[in-house]
Amino acid sequence: MKKLVYLSLGSNLGDRGKYLHETIFRLGDLGVIRQVSALYETQPVEVHGEQPWFLNCALAMETDLMPLEFLSRMLAVEQSMGRIRTQPKGPRTIDIDILFFGNDVLDTPELTVPHPAMHLRRFVLEPLAEIAPTLVHPVLKRTVRELLGSLPADSGLVNKLQPN
Ligand code: AMP
Repeated sequence: MKKLVYLSLGSNLGDRGKYLHETIFRLGDLGVIRQVSALYETQPVEVHGEQPWFLNCALAMETDLMPLEFLSRMLAVEQSMGRIRTQPKGPRTIDIDILFFGNDVLDTPELTVPHPAMHLRRFVLEPLAEIAPTLVHPVLKRTVRELLGSLPADSGLVNKLQPN
């Protein structure tokens, strides 16, 4: 059965825009990409030490894969992008998070959806609100726009980049 999956992508190492575009292209093997947000330059939060700013985006894709199969293929895409991580929460070429997997609610050792921190992250919610403002979080029962509106003002700077 086809499900609509929402992902958050981030990069803060090397040619960040190129890594994001190549990752989106490779994710096309897992289903059909339906929507991609603009790119957003975001202040590092929840990370260790001084780090470069991230480029983030959100996307929606339709897939026939089951959640754990999707996750393992998604992690293979991450690996194939040469993700370099010298420390947990350190700089990385590409980080992909599953925000929503249809309306599924899962809490397993490998996968938690909806993503447990997505509703607290401005760098996730701003790009997501661009493509899916009225989408309802299946546990919190609030729209993406509402979740974004209830973030504290000091939750990290997020600047939308204008396409050239
Ligand atoms: P991190 O790269 O630190 O975000 O953690 C990656 C690991 O988190 C993966 O190996 C997944 O097994 C696990 N994980 C659990 N829930 C999720 C999710 N919603 N999206 C992505 N990874 C997840």
